[in-house]
Amino acid sequence: MKKNNNLLEIPNINSKDAIFKKLIYDIENSLFDKDNYSKKEFEHLCVCSGGTTSSCAKNGFTTLDLRKNYSQIYLDRETNLVTIGGGVIMGDLLNHLQKHNRSFPIGLSKLPGAGYVLTGGVSPLSRAYGLAIDNIESIKGFLGNGTFISLKKKKISPEKKLIWEAIKGAAPFFSIITEIELMTIRSNPIQIIEGFVNLNELSEIIKISEKFPENMSLQWIYAQKIYIYIFVELKNNLEDKRIKEYLLLQEKFPALEKNYYENFNEINFFPKELNLYELNVNNHSEVISLLGEDLKNEIPLFVKCLNEIMDNKPNNSCYVASQQLGGKTKKLKHGSSFFVHRKSTWKPWIYASWKKNDLQEKEVAMDWMYKSWIKLKRFYPNIHLAQLHNHLNSHREELTLAFGNRTDELKTLKNIFDPQSILPPL
Ligand SMILES: Cc1cc2nc3c(=O)[nH]c(=O)nc-3n(C[C@H](O)[C@H](O)[C@H](O)COP(=O)(O)OP(=O)(O)OC[C@H]3O[C@@H](n4cnc5c(N)ncnc54)[C@H](O)[C@@H]3O)c2cc1C
Repeated sequence: MKKNNNLLEIPNINSKDAIFKKLIYDIENSLFDKDNYSKKEFEHLCVCSGGTTSSCAKNGFTTLDLRKNYSQIYLDRETNLVTIGGGVIMGDLLNHLQKHNRSFPIGLSKLPGAGYVLTGGVSPLSRAYGLAIDNIESIKGFLGNGTFISLKKKKISPEKKLIWEAIKGAAPFFSIITEIELMTIRSNPIQIIEGFVNLNELSEIIKISEKFPENMSLQWIYAQKIYIYIFVELKNNLEDKRIKEYLLLQEKFPALEKNYYENFNEINFFPKELNLYELNVNNHSEVISLLGEDLKNEIPLFVKCLNEIMDNKPNNSCYVASQQLGGKTKKLKHGSSFFVHRKSTWKPWIYASWKKNDLQEKEVAMDWMYKSWIKLKRFYPNIHLAQLHNHLNSHREELTLAFGNRTDELKTLKNIFDPQSILPPL
């Protein structure tokens, strides 16, 4: 905590700067009392796990900070299932698992908390192991009406089925999850081919990547320049002819370099040292995450569109990036969920940033984000609701594009289990 005890020490600067009404660490009955939130229209309880989003603390709102009392991590060595608290960050999970040579498909940063798991969780390992939600075995927590819930994948009764499915992708709207049990995977070495490329090379690499085997994925960022990561999990199959061929990609693109990592935990994507974009602690930001399928013949059109977007970028802190999913994330082996766009193979995101007190710059940056979103919709029509935007005008559209034909089911769940809208509104 900072000296000013009305501020939170968390990664997201918008939320870090918010002057909240009250900070709570424990889940008590009073938390579910509507009278505590009714002072302002749309006031609700903010929940903080990793604290990486702009919605975990807001001016005048109460925040439930799960980091202090819900930070347990326990790995059962017999089942290799790990149990984490609702306030655990992915870096701590990976550090713990690595001690036992286990791992988990976390995303491109170690900073996100349980919000990463509950909103889907797209990892460079997802093509081989599914989304984070596909690896949930059980959960414990509270519904918005204060009811305690404990659900196990193998013992879901028909009447709990909808709640279970909605927890996987839409939990923040109607529940506070205090414990999550996850499957872990063996920790394998990783080969990364990475470096700066130009737009033509990016176009060629996207084309190649759309045929990647499941243990490979592409992630790229276009900020001041374009930087890519071709991620390869080495699962004893280096002898696989296809992988060997792909590893030769580096020869085709001489600016790329090949790096070997003992495990996933050692990798630091988009590090500061690369100066990819201006990292400014005095900036506020918003991110919107999209979803779409393989670009196939549309790659040249997409690259042209990307170029236009970057030409209009309002400042050097704004960028567009993308990660690849597909493979196992397309399958429903682990049952239905509220991550409905299972056909998706790309998750691009648009990052808009501005000097925190400069409202004019904010307007320009947000306008760029929305206009870029409109341009990209043709290729990526859906939304990955990894960031809750109920404070933005785009919220309703994002909800529909994220939950598709399950939006009404989510509204029903919200009406039943969070009737007073204590948790973030739909
Ligand atoms: C640097 C960076 C890299 C990222 N990379 C990826 C990536 O590779 N793949 C990907 O899929 N996403 C990625 N994300 C997005 C991130 O996973 C989501 O924004 C996620 O929601 C953040 O979770 P959090 O716990 O850190 O955030 P918080 O701000 O603490 O929480 C986010 C929201 O989730 C809700 N929430 C959090 N915990 C709980 C809980 N226990 N119970 C109920 N509700 C809860 C809160 O209401 C809050 O509104 C990245 C984000 C950042 C900042």
